[in-house]
Amino acid sequence: MRTLAIIGAGFGGTMTCVHLLRLLAERAREDGAEDQKPFQIYLIERSGRFTAGVAYSTTSHAHLLNVPAGRMSALPDDPDHFLRWARQQDARIGGGTFVPRPMYGRYLASILEEANAAAGNAVRLTRVPRGAAGARADSRGVTIELDGGSEINADAAVLAIGNFAPGNPPLADETFYRSWRYAKDPWGPGALDVEPDGDVLLLGTGLTMLDIAIALKERGHRGTIHAVSRRGLLPQPHRVSIRPPASHPRPKGLEEWPRTARGLLHALRAEVRGAAARGVDWREVVTSLRHDTPALWRGLSERERSRFLLRVRPYWETHRHRAAPETATQIAELIARNELVVHAGRVIGYAESRSGGGGVEARVLMRGAERETALRVARVINCTGPETDLRKVEDAFVRRLVECGVVRPDALGLGLDTDAYGAIVSADGRVQDRLMLVGPLRKGQLWENTAVPELRHETLAMAKGLAGRVVVAKRGVEVGV
Ligand SMILES: Cc1cc2nc3c(=O)[nH]c(=O)nc-3n(C[C@H](O)[C@H](O)[C@H](O)COP(=O)(O)OP(=O)(O)OC[C@H]3O[C@@H](n4cnc5c(N)ncnc54)[C@H](O)[C@@H]3O)c2cc1C
Repeated sequence: MRTLAIIGAGFGGTMTCVHLLRLLAERAREDGAEDQKPFQIYLIERSGRFTAGVAYSTTSHAHLLNVPAGRMSALPDDPDHFLRWARQQDARIGGGTFVPRPMYGRYLASILEEANAAAGNAVRLTRVPRGAAGARADSRGVTIELDGGSEINADAAVLAIGNFAPGNPPLADETFYRSWRYAKDPWGPGALDVEPDGDVLLLGTGLTMLDIAIALKERGHRGTIHAVSRRGLLPQPHRVSIRPPASHPRPKGLEEWPRTARGLLHALRAEVRGAAARGVDWREVVTSLRHDTPALWRGLSERERSRFLLRVRPYWETHRHRAAPETATQIAELIARNELVVHAGRVIGYAESRSGGGGVEARVLMRGAERETALRVARVINCTGPETDLRKVEDAFVRRLVECGVVRPDALGLGLDTDAYGAIVSADGRVQDRLMLVGPLRKGQLWENTAVPELRHETLAMAKGLAGRVVVAKRGVEVGV
């Protein structure tokens, strides 16, 4: 046994692969097994685009990272790694710069290349530009079925498939969702195809909405862009600074913070007030909770986690996941010119003219209003963020895993159920320690497991866990699980 498979080559899959290449090569060298049969890693990616994932495959240079360059190192033990690399591309980049996202995709590609070259003959990496269509695991290993029918057998596999694609906001009559005027996935092909003077309705007012509004303007869109969400809250902006702001120490007495959603919110507000009195910006307080967030989340009962999702989440999301200052400025300018109109409300239905030629009328119940407002638009684009309800996910691979009982939802329906180490729990409650998960679908376990500052630790821990199960046998490197 000497084969590992990674499904998905976004940040999660790429960095798990990078760490495995390093750790396994190191292991083979220590054990003098470099000339033996190499360890094999398969990196399986259905888009055929390795290393970029959804976030970094945008081609728009107006799409910026939402974390400053000084905090985007992919390597936990080398915090300035990305900054040094980025400065080699453009010496003007500082720690506080929000660089275009395509650059980050190139960074990940360069790390993978380097790690692969350094691994030499000890580890063989095969990139498989195909989709995984199914997977089954037993005590001996994992079989991955690929689109088109062939199979890969591995001793263990890591699912690094990112988030589920967005789901349709529920409506009494969902006929409109079949219309060509509706784009369910804002990143899907043709999603932004709309006549330049047509008005557009964006569902959701988070970071994805900002990206899509900017992308539409970049394409020369002249019509009004409407954006609607229940509260109409926009992501808070990052501060402008040359270097990333100095880290704020984690709040004292964090362990004693109340274990209720409301209590946590009060404690955080008190901490922010105290910090403000010392001249520290609230953003630094929120950021200082980063490493403790999973523990705080685990400290809440299931009921309190539900309360958090219901009452605190919208505020948490907009303060925690902030927009690059340049992005926020661009959006503020669009709003000031009435080119972007943000509404607090809820779409309750759509009426499309029979021929479709007259566009679509979205009926919106604005917050606090008794009567609905009609917005006539040429296109509706869903920017509500990833679907988290496993029962509604349409992805064929995930559907198959659900149908075969290989995966089950976590208790709150935020992703997949795993144990504390990321081993996937099957529908019948078995911990499958040969089938692992990294990335945002572990939200149920960790809550914040979305951005690079968390994922870089997670991917290293995952690779260490897997490499720790490897034994070097006479004829090569084996996984001893
Ligand atoms: C638009 C956007 C912008 C973001 N910006 C930032 C940022 O600035 N800073 C930050 O820290 N974080 C950002 N994030 C968060 C980002 O999600 C993480 O940083 C990270 O990129 C997630 O990586 P991932 O590998 O888990 O998921 P993804 O990047 O989504 O990668 C998953 C990969 O799996 C592949 N895949 C899925 N199913 C299969 C299958 N069945 N077979 C084969 N391959 C499959 C997909 O094609 C995809 O390439 C952003 C996210 C988005 C969506």
